[in-house]
Amino acid sequence: MENIAFIGLGNMGGPMAVNLLNKGFKVSAFDLSADALAKVAAAGGRAASSAADAAESASVVISMLPAGKHVAGLYLGDNGLFARLPKGALVIDCSTIDAGTARKVAEGAREKGLSMLDAPVSGGTAGAAAGTLTFIVGGAAEDLAHARPVLEAMGKNIFHAGGAGAGQTAKICNNMLLGILMAGTAEALALGVKNGLDPKVLSEIISKSSGRNWATELYNPWPGVMDNTPASRGYAGGFMSELMLKDLGLAEETALQSHAANPLGALARNLYEEHVHQGNGKLDFSSIVKHFHSLN
Ligand code: NAD
Repeated sequence: MENIAFIGLGNMGGPMAVNLLNKGFKVSAFDLSADALAKVAAAGGRAASSAADAAESASVVISMLPAGKHVAGLYLGDNGLFARLPKGALVIDCSTIDAGTARKVAEGAREKGLSMLDAPVSGGTAGAAAGTLTFIVGGAAEDLAHARPVLEAMGKNIFHAGGAGAGQTAKICNNMLLGILMAGTAEALALGVKNGLDPKVLSEIISKSSGRNWATELYNPWPGVMDNTPASRGYAGGFMSELMLKDLGLAEETALQSHAANPLGALARNLYEEHVHQGNGKLDFSSIVKHFHSLN
């Protein structure tokens, strides 16, 4: 069994580390938050005093951090982990970050004789807890083969998107589409309700018609239409609007850098920008429905 260092034990990383422990891996964990660290220690992990301490005898390092600057800060530079890890160690970054930083970090790993994968996830906090995440991986096929047993302890579907950074690019394409379709679904439901339709009946109609999508089928944004959705519990839990805004920003940066047009993605980013600015950042991203209809 691999010795794993796990850095970043928040809403996603915490339950992912616990799943590794439950599958018999040894995990040395570190987070800046003592509370987050204590939860993983309670599940049998070693609470390290720093990221370097966690990585001390690790053959695999996993990180699950907020953004690119945290990932670059963890690994690069004289005090970064790449300067300490033994040659041949495998590094898996599961954070959602820009593909440019992912490629830069992967290049830094290669220069030190280390293997690196970008492996952002889909499936949210429920998928992290249940061990059913989808991993969208960028990097070399042989490194993915090495990582597979570790990823399988935390997820159900593993896709190889391409070389370094490709996992991040694929993840950002998916999340841009998700932001667009959630905003579009909210707009359509609000239009129906303003014209006298019952949102539940309209959702059933759309779910069996050509406008059908993931939101109408599994994650309806209208309160009370579906049990067990964030919409039916005051938009608590789920995937925060501020994280959707971050991902739509990454999509926009990617579009700018590659001279791709993304008018719908840009519009969705603007909608979420306003939504977060109005104090909804911590609410699930399906709360964008409030932009189209007041909910009392
Ligand atoms: P989070 O804020 O709950 O967790 C991040 C953790 O990283 C925090 O506990 C923080 O203390 C820790 N941290 C930050 N800098 C650190 C450092 N230098 N060293 C050690 N620990 C450090 O965020 P999250 O919801 O777990 O998301 C993590 C990543 O996963 C993000 O990139 C996010 O976009 C992505 N993601 C989140 C979801 C979701 O539904 N929450 C879904 C898919 C992907």
